[in-house]
Amino acid sequence: MADHVEPPFTAVSSPGRLVLGGRIDERSRLTDLAGAIASGPLTIDLSDVCYINSLGVRDWVTFLRRLAHQQVTITLERCAEVMVLQMNMIVDARGDARIASFFAPFACDACGWEGASLVVTDQVQALIAAGHTPEDDCPDCGARARFADFVDRYFLFLNATA
Ligand SMILES: [Zn+2]
Repeated sequence: MADHVEPPFTAVSSPGRLVLGGRIDERSRLTDLAGAIASGPLTIDLSDVCYINSLGVRDWVTFLRRLAHQQVTITLERCAEVMVLQMNMIVDARGDARIASFFAPFACDACGWEGASLVVTDQVQALIAAGHTPEDDCPDCGARARFADFVDRYFLFLNATA
């Protein structure tokens, strides 16, 4: 995990499921993947995406549009923080996709742990809409870890209803 070399782009496809990882940029040729994907529901796992640049985002948006044209219904799950940041800045980076779950930064005041925790959209959406800050259990000491970013910014993408 302490490897500072960004892993190359990976795409692992199986019926109804696509797992993307590594670095998404102009060399990833993301749009080329669209042709091989059948219509119907598709879940895209984005947990291992570690970096995306502006050209990568452009390809990602084109990719989502192509899939929409092909009658593919997209659910994004385990979205890495880098993808959440893009979806917060660019509405089209989410498109019509449903967000099942995503990573968010948390911090534990009891032991100093900081890291990303998986957040299930259905479990936090009402909470956030009501103005509450999500909490999670610290993986190190079990105390309550607090969400460590701005609630009104980080969860913005959840409001862009499909
Ligand atoms: Zn802790």
